[in-house]
Amino acid sequence: MAEIRSDIKKLSPGLYIVATPIGNLGDISKRGIETLAAADMIACEDTRVTAKLMAAFLLKKPLVPYHEHNGEQQRPKILAKIESGGSVALVSDAGTPLISDPGYKLVQEAHQNGIKVITVPGPSAVIAALSLAGLPTNRFLFLGFPPNKKKARQDWFSAQAETDATLIYYENNKRLGASLADAAVIFGPRNAAVCRELTKKFEEVVKDDLIALADHYKNEGAPKGEIVVIIEGSKKRDTDDDTQDQDMDRTLALALQHMSVKSAAAFVSELLDIKRKQVYSRALELTKE
Ligand code: SAM
Repeated sequence: MAEIRSDIKKLSPGLYIVATPIGNLGDISKRGIETLAAADMIACEDTRVTAKLMAAFLLKKPLVPYHEHNGEQQRPKILAKIESGGSVALVSDAGTPLISDPGYKLVQEAHQNGIKVITVPGPSAVIAALSLAGLPTNRFLFLGFPPNKKKARQDWFSAQAETDATLIYYENNKRLGASLADAAVIFGPRNAAVCRELTKKFEEVVKDDLIALADHYKNEGAPKGEIVVIIEGSKKRDTDDDTQDQDMDRTLALALQHMSVKSAAAFVSELLDIKRKQVYSRALELTKE
């Protein structure tokens, strides 16, 4: 049997925020392994998940659970451990802690108590997806997970309708179709990418405009695995008449699945900046067809 590593230097007291792989174990950094090996204690979301990661690198350390349900009780204990000269590593199940994962309050209280917080950066699905999607990266806005209910989700997207930064959200595979349909209703035919199973065997990036993507996943059903969605930010669409007509038809077709003719026409007119009368008469034609 392989031996547990014991060739490890001591860490200075502090809270170490350690990123772990989002799929491919090879993505942990050398410093990440060294930090996990040297920390006095590891605070983790789920001890079973982190125990597997530790075993893969032949590491053994005390693991304490730290998640949204026990944070209040655990924080004072973790901070006391560091104040008495210890080093604590914080990890989540995958990726970078605090990014749609527990840890924000722990880091905040560590700062408030004058405790040193050290980053050991590495994988995060949001950055991995952004780097693959082929959409502008100069300005981006990470939105976390969308709300589960349709109305709340549409409001959540609506709040970003004018944002010119690239938008990024995490999504559960079962809800992908529903959230893409809502995004298409709000944003129309913007370019987008569905990034799935990053760093894993079935890594995939599906790129199209939002309406086509919403249609695709409506027909295909829920894909397997973990997903990040990326949507181009708002920009005045520089379109010729044909493209504008096509955009109008596709956006109207989708809006009419969810709204009355009048509301759909008002909505698409606003979204694509086309006269309401023109959109309304096209909406009537489409409903007849
Ligand atoms: N803290 C993590 C990070 O830095 O990426 C994210 C944790 S969040 C609870 C989990 C979500 O991240 C998943 O539901 C999915 O949206 C996204 N995600 C994580 N791993 C992924 C992967 N390998 N491929 C695509 N998306 C992933």
